[in-house]
Order: sequence, then structure tokens, then C-alpha cells
Amino acid sequence: MRGMDLHFLGAATTVTGSQFLLETGQARVLVDCGMFQGGPNESIRNRIPLAYDPATLDAILLTHAHLDHCGLIPHVVREGFHGPIRATAGTIELARLVLLDSGRLQEEFSKRENRWERRHPDRAEAEDARDRATLEAAIELAEAGEEGAAPTPAAAAFAAGSREVVDDAPTSGPAPARSVPAVPAVPLMPPTSPVPGTIRDAREAAYAEGAHVATTIEPVDGPGRPDHEAELRAAGHELKPDLDAPLYTERDAVESLRRFQPVSYGVEEEVAPGIHATYLDAGHILGSAIIRLRVADRPGGPERILVFSGDLGRTGAPIIADPTPLSDADYVLCESTYGGREHQPSAEAHRVLAETVRLVAEHRGVLLVPSFAIGRTQELVWELDRLVSAGEIPALPLYLDSPMAAKASDIYRRHTDYYDAETRALFESGDTPLDYPNQVVVADMAQSQAIAKAHRPYMIVASNGMLTGGRVVNHLRNLIDDQAATILFVGYQGEGTLGRHLQEGAKSVRLDGQVRAVRCRIASISGFSAHADEPGLLAWLAGFTQGKHPGDPGFPRRVFLVHGDPGPQAELAPKVAALGLDVHVPLWHEAVTLD
Ligand SMILES: [Zn+2]
Repeated sequence: MRGMDLHFLGAATTVTGSQFLLETGQARVLVDCGMFQGGPNESIRNRIPLAYDPATLDAILLTHAHLDHCGLIPHVVREGFHGPIRATAGTIELARLVLLDSGRLQEEFSKRENRWERRHPDRAEAEDARDRATLEAAIELAEAGEEGAAPTPAAAAFAAGSREVVDDAPTSGPAPARSVPAVPAVPLMPPTSPVPGTIRDAREAAYAEGAHVATTIEPVDGPGRPDHEAELRAAGHELKPDLDAPLYTERDAVESLRRFQPVSYGVEEEVAPGIHATYLDAGHILGSAIIRLRVADRPGGPERILVFSGDLGRTGAPIIADPTPLSDADYVLCESTYGGREHQPSAEAHRVLAETVRLVAEHRGVLLVPSFAIGRTQELVWELDRLVSAGEIPALPLYLDSPMAAKASDIYRRHTDYYDAETRALFESGDTPLDYPNQVVVADMAQSQAIAKAHRPYMIVASNGMLTGGRVVNHLRNLIDDQAATILFVGYQGEGTLGRHLQEGAKSVRLDGQVRAVRCRIASISGFSAHADEPGLLAWLAGFTQGKHPGDPGFPRRVFLVHGDPGPQAELAPKVAALGLDVHVPLWHEAVTLD
């Protein structure tokens, strides 16, 4: 009898695409089925052939509803998966929002891409050829990981390129193709894109954290402008095997939702022959879970405990509970997003938020907060509501301008069962901590546009969080050169995004193909993250070692660091080792046998 195997099919030396296949002598389950997001070298990974036959899976176990954990589910269902998808009720409701939006966006993007290709057949052909070369390099990298072999030069270049910063200056004109040695560079989009990082890149990045992306950024001469004559002329053009087709459609997403089955926190259930799963609150977003598996490789065989951290939340974050501490496991897969980094203390975050709001009020200005729709927006509203209640800030009007955030907030309001003690106590005393006293939930685009004419001072919270698309970009256009405006970042700004450029002090940026001076104030708060920082991760891992020695029952035989970029992982690994743990950073598609 062979041992059980664990395949790292995503979130291995990168932060997205979370997907782990566990194979035993009697069952196969997938933990998470997430989409790769970020630059083109990340998103192309969604297109490589599946490493397994989906029809042979017994179940999919889902930690939470962010797209980088659930985003490939409709694809895998369409490819033949017909088992149950187990998730908490909160995750199921949020995943519904995320997956339908994702299917819709992919269809829109595909249509736009095809329109552009019809009008630029020569450039389209070159782009398709580059896409195919990149896909081949991705496949080579996956194969190298599977075999534990050194990657080919093309695959190594692909791996390096996938994390390469798009570091052109914001004013340097169209974003250049990323330079990936040995593999032809992938042009990010029709070359007239207005924002560093470009639409294709940006839209993919904006999928992260389940952000809603409106289709508001268009190249000046881009696919958004109808050119019927050219479309007709090019109508006969034949498209190559289609990397531009949607990975799945909204209809596929609807279909996949039928497979979801709710689980409750803390209740162990057999999810496949010999595999018992317990979901425990991960404190990351509503319904998020750490998944603990009790696994027997064969009937009556010895059991092993596997713990998948999912995304671990920040202790003390509002609304939801703190991450559940665990004490025993044989193997732990631990996220490592914030390896090497420590969040600002929450008292400091509150102080900066209050001060920023007061300054905006004094100057009769506008505060614009780009925010991810699920999790961050609800927490930010909660924090603002608390500051008003404490008399620390004036109750400026607050415009909530994100359809997905509004829907997510409804789900948060319904699930009082997931609240932490503080939020529950507020609720029971008649308070409404998920609602700000002076808030306006923006319904449609007309209302969104009308905000610019509102009486100042006021605040806007809009998606998405990295300024890569969505309604927030419309507000940015109005406010970028307004000295009375403040843009406040409360979340992580991905490398190469417009948000990152502004955060790093860019004096001018390119918007809609025009160079715009940055005259507004830029501020950032790091203390509202939805992820544990390094001390948080180490504290959680230390729960497995306290009072034990290597070799004792429940002392992990090995810890796998996943869901992190190589830099943070390299910083975190020695500190995990210092806890006495055997630590390993798996490669993409690496398989390990657990004995
Ligand atoms: Zn997440």
C-alpha cells in the first residue's frame, strides 16, 4: 500500500490559485480550487490542463469565498466534477456572488478581446503566438515541479516573469510588455492601455479578493470604441485555438453552485472514504475556514491529521472571530502572505483613520477609500461607525459605491452567527455596527456620477481596492488633481498597479491616455489587513509545538508554507524552523508522499 500523496497545484511560491489535491488509497479530494490572478504569467496558469480527472474526485473542500480560492470551481465542474463542494453557509453565499461575477467578467473580457483581435488581425496573431508560448512555458514549469526536476530555461524564465514588477514609470506611456528572458514577452493588452499594468493585467489583479470590476477603463483607441466597419472587414478572420475564450461563463458558474453543500464550524463529517473534515473559523472573511482532515490511507489503516490554514485572519479584526488556534497535527499547510512583515498596531490604524477623516472635514474635502468588496469594505464601515459613536470623527456623509460590496454587506448582516463577541454585543444592544449612520448605498451609475456634485465634505468607499478598475477609477478621475481630496489606501497594493504607484509617491499618472498631475493627498493604513502578519502566523504555528518535542504525538512532522511569494516565504521559513518545525516550501505542482 502506498502512502498518501499531496499535490501542490496552486498557491505554491505564489499567493493565488490555491489548490491542493490529496490522494489516498481510497479517496481523492481537492482542498480549494482557486484562480490564479495577477499578471499574465499568473493568469495563464489557469489554462494549463488539469492535473487530474475531475470526474474521479470525491469532493472539493473550500476554505473561503475569495476568488483565488474558489475561482476555478465552475471550470472544474464543467470538466466533469460531479461531487459535493463543502463549504460553510457564509462561504456559499459569498462564493455565489464571486463566481457569478467572475463568469460574467470573463465573458465580457473575451468579447472585448475578440473585438480587438478582429480589428487588429496582425497584432492579434502575434499576441496569440506569444500567449501560446507562455502557456507552453507554464506547462513545462508544472511538469518540472511534478518531476522534482530543474525547470527548463523557458519554464524558469516564466516563473521569474510571473512575479516581475511592471515597473515602468506611471507617466512613461503605454505599458510595455513584460520582459521575460527566453520566452517571448506577453503584451498585456492592446498597447494603448492607460494605466500601468494595463487592463488585462489589471482586471486579473482586481479579481483578487473578490473585487467587482466594472468595465470602465478603456484604451483611448481601444476595444471600447465601436468600429463596425473594421469589424465587418475582419469578420472572416479565423481565431486560433482559443486562449481568449472565457475560462467559464456565468451559466457555468450557476451550474457549479448546485454542487455546494453547507457545513458547520466544529462539526466533523466524513467527506470521502477515510477522510473526515472539520471546518474551524479562520477569522479572515465571513465564513472562512481552517480545514482539519483526519485521514486514513486505507480502511483500518493508521490516521494522519492534516491542517490547511486557508487564509488566516488578523487577531482583533472587527466583526468576525479570531483565527482558531489548533494544537495537534501531523502535517500543516500554512499561508505565508505576510512573511517578514508586521502590521501597524490597530490603535495606530484607528488614530490615522480618525485624523484623516477630521482633516478632510476641516478642509471641506473628499475622502476616497479604494476598498475590496468582500471583507475590507464591511470592516472599514464598522471602524468608521465606531469612530462616530466614540465622537472621534464627525459623521460625514459616506457613499458606498460598489454593487458587490453592497450585496456582500447584506450577507454579512444576515450572518450574526459568525460575529465575534464585541460585534454581537453591539448588535444585541440595538446598535447597527455594519451600517454607518450617514451612509448612502449607491445604486447605479447615474447615482455614482452624481456624487461629484454632492455638498462637501464627504467620503466615498468604492471598489476595487487597487484602483485597477471599477467605479473607484471614475472618482479618481475627478479627484486626482484636487488638493482638497485624500485617497486613503487600507489594503495591500499589488506591484505594478496604479494604487501602488500612487502609494509610492508618483507625482503624475496616466489616466485614459492622459498624463494627470497628482495633487490630492495620498495616505495609507496597514493595520486593517484581513491576513495575519508574521507574528500572527508564528503564534498560530507555535500552538502546534507548545509543551511538545519533535516526534511527540501531535507535533507536526512537517509544515508546508503556501500562499506566499518567494521573498516573504524565505523570510518566514527560518523562523518557523526556529519553532522546532521541519519546514518546506513546495514548488508549483510538486507532489509529496505523507507517511
Ligand atoms: Zn482570502
